Amino acid sequence: MTRSGQEYLDSLRDGREVWLDGERVKDVTRHAAFRNTASSIARLYDLAHESEHREVLTSGGVHRAFAVPRSYEDLVARRKAYKVWAESSFGFLGRSPDYMAGGAAGFAAVPQLFTTDSFDGADNALAYHRRLAEGDLYSAFTITNPHSGEGEDDLVVRVVAEKDGGIVVSGAKTVGTGAVFADEVIVGTIEPLAPGDVEHALCFSVPIGTPGLRFVSRTSYEAQARSVFDNPLSSRFDENDALLVCEDVFVPWERVLTYRNVEATGAMWWQTPAYLNFGHQAATRFWTKLEFLTGLAILLTRTNKTYQLPAVTQSVGRLLGMVAQAKAFVLAAEASYEQVDGGRGGVRPGQEISFAQRIMAGELYPRAVQEIKLLAGGGVIQLPASAEDLLHPQLGPVVRKYLRAPGSSAEDRIKLLKLVWDALGSEFAGRHEQYERFYHGAPHVYLTMQTWAGGAENCEELARACLDGYGLPPAGQDLGTDK
Ligand SMILES: Cc1cc2nc3c(=O)[nH]c(=O)nc-3n(C[C@H](O)[C@H](O)[C@H](O)COP(=O)(O)OP(=O)(O)OC[C@H]3O[C@@H](n4cnc5c(N)ncnc54)[C@H](O)[C@@H]3O)c2cc1C
Repeated sequence: MTRSGQEYLDSLRDGREVWLDGERVKDVTRHAAFRNTASSIARLYDLAHESEHREVLTSGGVHRAFAVPRSYEDLVARRKAYKVWAESSFGFLGRSPDYMAGGAAGFAAVPQLFTTDSFDGADNALAYHRRLAEGDLYSAFTITNPHSGEGEDDLVVRVVAEKDGGIVVSGAKTVGTGAVFADEVIVGTIEPLAPGDVEHALCFSVPIGTPGLRFVSRTSYEAQARSVFDNPLSSRFDENDALLVCEDVFVPWERVLTYRNVEATGAMWWQTPAYLNFGHQAATRFWTKLEFLTGLAILLTRTNKTYQLPAVTQSVGRLLGMVAQAKAFVLAAEASYEQVDGGRGGVRPGQEISFAQRIMAGELYPRAVQEIKLLAGGGVIQLPASAEDLLHPQLGPVVRKYLRAPGSSAEDRIKLLKLVWDALGSEFAGRHEQYERFYHGAPHVYLTMQTWAGGAENCEELARACLDGYGLPPAGQDLGTDK
């Protein structure tokens, strides 16, 4: 059954080992670097209990992202649930709990893929999905490897001992987005492993508070924020990215999904609907984020009194065209849904369109940011350092006098411009640009995949048909070029 926000927050006090700035964080729900974002995630859980959203977000008391979709209508219903959560963070919580929920549903659709000669993880994959769905749990995932050079120490998570009840693992994984706020983390590998590299071919899921599991947080934008007024997004939606380090972590067999099998360790993401389900959430959130940024551009240009200028109207039109593109990718992936082969069946969003969405989003996002920065001018820079200046008895009136604009008070204008800069120009904003380009993998990987999966044959055939429709004329025939 769905949890309340408070139940979620209480679950985070489990002794998890989170480090920031050389300090071990005692409680992420209270620490200044994490507490507001934890509250924003708790808010997502609360939404499922509000009469206005309950039906859209849940079915049978379970969040819709955990459902294995059986039809086009199920995909649409899931997207509507994704949209409600995405709007709650204006698209800035990329790895909200519904992301990996869809991944778990993907595993459950094809559980037999986890049965291999080296390990039978099918029941564990089903149990993983059931545990998450029934407990309404938040799972993060770390499936990106640190870069170990040949002949250097092995930095990647690997098994160091086998015991009766499970395995002992050591090593690291990188960029665990949301991990410090999650209940569990999946540790695996999405990059293709070399044939025979069974040492690194494993995937498991453990609670974040598991002894020996350590999370080293990057800089906290929430901690750097002066106030919600000054940094409205980074102060509340800093979902965090952490290096995961395992030091002799014991993983019970029932938590292991794949073991010593190179094919299954990769295929669990690609041959189940897991990755395409990720894409469905991500594409819906991306669409929402572009809607929000475009809304900011409209408010900005209305405040600057430039909205009616033809060039600015066209710029807004360009942004709205981007929103429509982002929306079209969601609708098209749903409309081109495919049956899932084997297993427990169901449907998945269309692969070709879902894969292409990654390319579109990675290229579109920086262009959208650039477009709005051009509309913003210097106003987003010339702002008081903090709300303190506005509140100061002597300085406040000065700031209010010189930073107002025709038709808008200084306070309203500063509030808007600070929001714009937090979204587009802050360190938090820079991280988001990198996120939209890389969260789904490296460009050289997804561009190559598109060539394999993106209908190259049809394109080639069409061009070939044109070529086949004519040829070199017989010698002596008038070529018709002397006109
Ligand atoms: C904000 C953010 C959040 C993320 N969250 C998560 C998460 O929650 N979980 C997770 O597991 N991962 C996460 N990632 C990691 C993401 O999946 C990786 O960044 C991505 O797969 C690229 O891997 P890398 O960072 O090691 O880049 P690298 O492999 O170092 O690549 C860097 C650049 O070099 C290019 N390149 C590398 N090798 C080649 C080649 N052979 N040919 C051509 N070009 C090449 C790449 O395309 C890329 O542009 C996140 C990343 C970011 C930025």
